[in-house]
Amino acid sequence: MVKKEITSAAKLKKELEEAKAELASRNKKLKLSVKTEPKKKAEPKKKAEPKKKEARKKVEAKKKAEAKKKEAKRKAEAKKKEAKKKEEEAKKKEEEAKRTYEEELEEQLTEDEIKNFAIDKTDMDKLVNRVTEMIASYATNGILQNILWRKLKLSSRDGSRLALKLEKLGNITREKILENGRWTYLLLIKKIPISTISIENAPCLVCPVEGKCSTDGEISPKTCVYIEDWVLTELKTKKRHETN
Ligand code: SF4
Repeated sequence: MVKKEITSAAKLKKELEEAKAELASRNKKLKLSVKTEPKKKAEPKKKAEPKKKEARKKVEAKKKAEAKKKEAKRKAEAKKKEAKKKEEEAKKKEEEAKRTYEEELEEQLTEDEIKNFAIDKTDMDKLVNRVTEMIASYATNGILQNILWRKLKLSSRDGSRLALKLEKLGNITREKILENGRWTYLLLIKKIPISTISIENAPCLVCPVEGKCSTDGEISPKTCVYIEDWVLTELKTKKRHETN
């Protein structure tokens, strides 16, 4: 009985040692698996890191290349603009150096020759008044002389002489301007001449009640039908002249 107990104890001891060994082995395996697990997880990270870096580098390089391209484009455009500006300035200087036909005329003709300028078979007083009134209708904006000569069907030769005449008479001023790369003159009104032509058909000149007519009286220009008709007719005539 005692022997059996001893045997059982030894067996028990053996079993216990085996169990211990088993436990130790399991512990070791467990430790190993705990240690190796993070490594396994960390591995893909390590592999992804250089890829990300590479991609970042590529994006940065692309950005740099684009910025370089933009800068080169900006520089090229600035260069082009500068060249165009220089070309325009040179053209302007070249034009400024050119003398106008009117400037040459002014040198060739005397003041009297300009003032007495006349066009064949033309009533110059009427023409001067008409042109002055037309220029006056453009007020401070003025009108380009070539446009005016076209309206009046005048040659540029006659037109230029007429403009000089009007200036010498003190009716207009001429402003030299560069229009579409060519020098011309802007004609501006200075003084509207008093003309008897404008009142030669006025009803008051032959009115039988002119003596009784006053602005505050019973007979007055404010209520006069004759003067109203005359003003309307004059306006229509003036407009017709301007459109011709
Ligand atoms: S405004 Fe009439 S009424 Fe008076 S003078 Fe002239 S035409 Fe005669």
